[in-house]
Amino acid sequence: MDWFKKKIKGVDTNASKNTLATSLVEERTKSNIILNSIESGVVVIDDHNSIQLVNPAAARLLGWAAEEAIGLDYRTVIHIVDDKNKEYPDHMNPFKIVLEKHESHRDNAAVLASKTGTQIPINITVTPLFDASQHLNGVVGIFSDVTEQRREERQRAEFISTASHEMRTPVAAIEGYLALAMNDKVAKIDVKARDYLEKAHSSTQHLGQLFQDLLTSAKAEDGRLSNHPSVVEFGSYLQQLSEDLKFGAEKKGLLVEYITNAGDAGHPNAAGTKVVTPLYYVYADPDRMREVITNLFDNAVKYTDTGKITIGLTGNESIVQFYIHDTGPGIPPNDIPHLFQKFYRVDTSATRTIGGTGLGLFICRKIVELFNGRIWVESEVNKGSTFYINLPRLSTQKASELQKAAASQSVSAMPTPTATI
Ligand code: ADP
Repeated sequence: MDWFKKKIKGVDTNASKNTLATSLVEERTKSNIILNSIESGVVVIDDHNSIQLVNPAAARLLGWAAEEAIGLDYRTVIHIVDDKNKEYPDHMNPFKIVLEKHESHRDNAAVLASKTGTQIPINITVTPLFDASQHLNGVVGIFSDVTEQRREERQRAEFISTASHEMRTPVAAIEGYLALAMNDKVAKIDVKARDYLEKAHSSTQHLGQLFQDLLTSAKAEDGRLSNHPSVVEFGSYLQQLSEDLKFGAEKKGLLVEYITNAGDAGHPNAAGTKVVTPLYYVYADPDRMREVITNLFDNAVKYTDTGKITIGLTGNESIVQFYIHDTGPGIPPNDIPHLFQKFYRVDTSATRTIGGTGLGLFICRKIVELFNGRIWVESEVNKGSTFYINLPRLSTQKASELQKAAASQSVSAMPTPTATI
């Protein structure tokens, strides 16, 4: 970082004597003008964690004078916290990540805790700096105050969730009355009227689903999605869920298969030996995960005309992986990068006739990310699609520790028995 200190801190008195020095001075002046005038905070940290540069915007946001901060360890000056004011652990700290991994990192959900105690929502990007021989000699962090932007986002999300919540009630009433009108036991209608009412009923159901999805996605976006994680053994959980889901698919004439990497769970394999199914423990909310799997399974059924849907489970010592494979129309490669965004639907004649909101996969991604997981799709047009989910795997020991801790908590939460006469 010596080159940097020389450029920033002082100008060699002989500099003007040669053109190289002159151009360096000009360059420095230009960069200083930019650094001093931009609204984004810029800090440079060397490979020994020491702060080398703080521009005026960074000084203002951090609450530190540049002269005070320069030379200090960045961890003394820059405190990044989450939305609950809890300091980021090392593995989430953008500076630490880039100093270790030597790759750029961006965080759009961070909050800066300034020296004066104010909390400022920021977007931050940290980029590595390399010397001529490609050795990391520091990092540059650029961050900006996004208080206004986050406030607007919150307001928007609140409006969507209030509106969709309010609109669900009358829609449910309309749906109920339409169902009554179509019920032979309570109403007499002719064939034509029944046809119209059936159409109205199906559109109302779609509207109800849209409001429900809007509500869930608004909550997912501002972190209000309720979430009660517990230890879940995915082998038995997924097998049971596959049993529950398969009727919908079979009604459409599709086969449903559940497979684990240990073969048919608990049953003798082809050689006649009993296969021991590994225990795949994860820490997640089983109800939320059911929403995700049901959504992926329903999509597989919805978009597949003939063939088979396979629900699979596998994993290694650190990951539990499950997938839902279908023999449907597949997804064009250009659409895949956008698939998990809000309201994205592949524009084909099939999707135009098949109902949907384009929110399902967005909600799935948000839920999977709540449990530090990853969701993605691999697909081939006219062959089918496979949606994968990876979740961090718990060791059997960690799973039983967490189960014991949860059991003791629920015991202590129980009311103390009182003596009765
Ligand atoms: P939708 O309510 O439209 O199904 P999703 O967010 O669940 O919304 O899915 C987004 C889009 O991804 C769908 O509109 C569809 O085009 C495509 N898609 C999702 N699952 C599949 C699948 N199994 N096979 C083919 N296309 C799919």
